[in-house]
Amino acid sequence: LLGADGHLGVTIFEEITTLAVRTGAINLGQGFPDEDGPDLMREAARDAISAGANQYAPGKGIPALREAISDHQRRFYGLTPDPETEIIVTTGATEALAAALLALTGPGDEVLTFEPFYDSYGAVIALSGATHVTAPLLAPEFQPDLAALEAAFSDRTRVILVNNPHNPMGSVFTREALTRIVELANRHDAIIITDEVYEHLTFGVAHIPVATLPGASERTLTISSAGKTFSLTGWKIGWMSGPAELVAAARTVKQFLSYSSGTPFQAAVAAGLALDGSFYEDLANTLQRKRDILSEGLRAAGMDVFTPQGTYFINVDAAPLGVTDATALARRLPELVGVAAIPVPVFCHPEGAERTKSLLRFAFCKRVDVLEEAASRIATLK
Ligand code: PMP
Ligand code: GLN
Repeated sequence: LLGADGHLGVTIFEEITTLAVRTGAINLGQGFPDEDGPDLMREAARDAISAGANQYAPGKGIPALREAISDHQRRFYGLTPDPETEIIVTTGATEALAAALLALTGPGDEVLTFEPFYDSYGAVIALSGATHVTAPLLAPEFQPDLAALEAAFSDRTRVILVNNPHNPMGSVFTREALTRIVELANRHDAIIITDEVYEHLTFGVAHIPVATLPGASERTLTISSAGKTFSLTGWKIGWMSGPAELVAAARTVKQFLSYSSGTPFQAAVAAGLALDGSFYEDLANTLQRKRDILSEGLRAAGMDVFTPQGTYFINVDAAPLGVTDATALARRLPELVGVAAIPVPVFCHPEGAERTKSLLRFAFCKRVDVLEEAASRIATLK
């Protein structure tokens, strides 16, 4: 079975986190915050456990959470998915992606993504038996190459899988790019699956959900997760919304992946989704300050920094330091300076890996003192 890097081995996150733990390095590799999400939500989970919410939840998710997801989409985006038929709860966005791709694609189909792409995309497309076709994101903004995208569509394109805001590159796609994606999907009668787990993590630019664009909603499955929005990545509560028949197809597969998802966490995520607007603003503002602290440190260390408009991640080009193989450097970095990062080429097929061979991804979702210490350690690389 072939994944992004030619096989389904240990994920890069597992590899680098294990290395960081073994060496005691500051882990700016795997994207998880070092401060937990809202007290209100952690209390709600404890209350749910005390109240006996400890057995299987309904397969499609508890009603209170499906209603809260629908309300959240109406409040922020004006979308009104029906909690009964157009939303399911999943075990993280990871399961939503797997259920959707396994339900909707198979041998003979093509699935289009941009490149670099989040690691699970390559692996699940391989598991489905479909062919993975890519179009590049263009440096330095890492917006879609729309001419390449048009050329990459074919009469076999079954799904275009979009990730916006984008992991690993940190870009937030423009309205023009998203509009073009929707036009091309319509022209080729392709389904759009859009992974918007970083929907609330944008810095000074608006996140535009694909499903809000003209001609999109009837062919778009939208995926998100509580992990990033609420700094609770270990809870693994995600969801998907979209046309009833597409959601039903994914739900059929979900039954046999996990059947249902963590009951007490669902109640707590429903409480989180109802938090007022200031919670979401504070989250983005806090992260933006952290982004700026780490960017400054990486720039001072002599790297070219691509300032992200969203997500947890800053990418740098380490070529000015003489680096030609980011993957080899990432494997040595924890021992060398006591900081762990993720190499960008692992998110690519061979051609894209060549284009990104000196790029590294650093996560900035950490306490300010941790980021400052990491920056001072990285400065010793020069
Ligand atoms: N998609 C993207 C783009 C991600 O970065 C991640 C990791 N947080 C996921 C999906 C998986 O999300 P979850 O932890 O909710 O499964
Ligand atoms: N989404 C996280 C990242 O990109 C990692 C999740 C995982 O370990 N699979 O860092």
